[in-house]
Amino acid sequence: MKLTIGHLYPDLLNLYGDRGNIQCMKKRCEWRGIDVEIREYQLTDPIDFSGLDIVLLGGGSDREQQIVCTTLQNIRDDMKAYVEDGGSVIAVCGGYQLLGHYYETGEGKMKGLSLVDLYTKQGSPRLISNVVLKSEDFPYEITGFENHGGRTWIGENRPFGRVVFGYGNNGEDKMEGILYKNVVGTYLHGPLLPKNPHVCDYLLRNAMNRKYGRTDLAPLDDSQEMEANQYIKNRFSGSK
Ligand code: GLN
Repeated sequence: MKLTIGHLYPDLLNLYGDRGNIQCMKKRCEWRGIDVEIREYQLTDPIDFSGLDIVLLGGGSDREQQIVCTTLQNIRDDMKAYVEDGGSVIAVCGGYQLLGHYYETGEGKMKGLSLVDLYTKQGSPRLISNVVLKSEDFPYEITGFENHGGRTWIGENRPFGRVVFGYGNNGEDKMEGILYKNVVGTYLHGPLLPKNPHVCDYLLRNAMNRKYGRTDLAPLDDSQEMEANQYIKNRFSGSK
């Protein structure tokens, strides 16, 4: 068995080492005897979404987002078809904002992919915090770190999690990120998946299910990862 992971525009969208999420997916597959191929795409490369099982769109500064946003319009229809067909996507921060209709800043409006019904407007101050989330879709809390100026509004969509600690999508409605089909959009940067192996396996399970009709992933020893996860949860949310 094999999964192919596409990394979109790693030179531009890779704030805080979002790339580490790919290493985590790769390792957790390899430990289970599942092969992984990683394909990196630069701005001018054509992308054949039919060969991909998981797509990573990382975070970027406003300037970098502006650069990729024109290219995104060229891949929009193919990526939309991929998402509607159940293709998995993990989009972080700047990448998450670009999944939506637009990201409005003081400089103007950047058009997004409109793959998911959400929009983002820049605000002040930046929302910077450790984060703890709870979600019925995941067996444990999700922990991470956020740093964004944009405020995202997802309407009636399903959030990635509810904010226990931190700001989340906009600092107001206590929601963080989005889940749409097999798309996960989130503001949680950097080592999201190493910190939350249950989120990593959620992505792998969805991708395996779509490709092979099987969702069983051999259990791994995540005791150290979960000890770290629960330490952060207790430190910031106070509940033991
Ligand atoms: N430029 C976006 C913002 O500030 C996203 C930043 C990021 O990816 N950290 O909201």
